Amino acid sequence: MSESWRRALPQAPESSPVAWIDDLAWASRDDPDARPFGTYEAVLADWRASAADRPQDYTDAERARLDAGDLPMTDVYVARVSEAQRAVMPRLPRDPSLPLPPVGTLAEHQRRLDAQTPEVTGLPNPGKWPMCCERLCTLLLVNPGHFTLTVLEDCVGSLNGIFWWDFADTPSPEVSATCWIPELDAVREGARSSETVNVFHCRDCGRLYGGYGHT
Ligand SMILES: [Zn+2]
Repeated sequence: MSESWRRALPQAPESSPVAWIDDLAWASRDDPDARPFGTYEAVLADWRASAADRPQDYTDAERARLDAGDLPMTDVYVARVSEAQRAVMPRLPRDPSLPLPPVGTLAEHQRRLDAQTPEVTGLPNPGKWPMCCERLCTLLLVNPGHFTLTVLEDCVGSLNGIFWWDFADTPSPEVSATCWIPELDAVREGARSSETVNVFHCRDCGRLYGGYGHT
């Protein structure tokens, strides 16, 4: 079954280099509206300035990556989604033409994020990247605009219940109500999120997960 919703969106100009970042999320890396904390170049400049000021805080490998123009995602941590959370998440059928992220352990996936993943989320603070079906979920959308969110919700229903960005094993309607749903409502009303709304997709089982971060 193809992802018919995707055909309603503008085609992403570039393919993502890794299976755990969707082309749509990859395209947002230089969209200042999708990245309220700065474009890729602005974030890179900040990191380089920080590494020049406090070289002792960075490893040789991290400085080498910054010199090469690459941002390792050292502030993002992999977390396995609990069965209680999986049980309630809506599913977006996977397009079989899209590559599956590899199966691995938590530690292997963490190394993958640290070493092989360029900065692309709207996460300014340490955040969690969901692991489902033993794979990294694919970052599908970063701070989507009204049109993109509407197209996706027309396909799978409301995304109000996909939030899992707390540290509990069970879904947390209270946290969703205070920080996730208001951000989605703002986008539905035509604004862009002032914080960060990340939508992840397990390309294996199709479940969607919402991640949120703020300074
Ligand atoms: Zn899954």
